[in-house]
Amino acid sequence: MIKPDGVQRGLVGEIISRFEKKGFKLVQLKMMKVTKEVAEEHYKDLKDKPFFPDLIGYILSGPVVGMVWEGQGVVKAARKIIGATNPLEAEPGTIRGDLAVQTGRNVVHGSDSPENGERETALWFAGHGIVEWEAHMKPWLVE
Ligand code: UDP
Ligand code: MG
Repeated sequence: MIKPDGVQRGLVGEIISRFEKKGFKLVQLKMMKVTKEVAEEHYKDLKDKPFFPDLIGYILSGPVVGMVWEGQGVVKAARKIIGATNPLEAEPGTIRGDLAVQTGRNVVHGSDSPENGERETALWFAGHGIVEWEAHMKPWLVE
């Protein structure tokens, strides 16, 4: 998910491009103004953290872009492409390392496990599912 700061800063294309160029397949994409219920459900594991109210306020502060990407090792690779939660600790070359300076404005979210990827896809794209299509680049990516 591209967070509101990523949208406002004009980073949507840049962020999508990094996943696309790596070789992952986009199977769902939607710009949306998320509801408080969805934001709180999405981050429910963090609800006891002191930063939770600010985090929910941040996610509700503007439109976000939800995406679903598929591919070999996509969850682990996406977390690497995104970089550490604190952008000042994120390596150069990662999205957060290159494009952000603060944990509370770290431009992008990535699912932390395949199970959470499924859970978040069901939550964010309820009733929409994913788009099944064959990527013709596949034999050029995977032997
Ligand atoms: N966050 C924050 N302060 C913190 C830790 C996290 O504002 O001290 C926010 C930040 O936007 C982060 C999100 O909460 O991306 C979710 O936290 P998590 O630990 O799951 O980090 P992520 O998986 O996004 O790297
Ligand atoms: Mg997380």
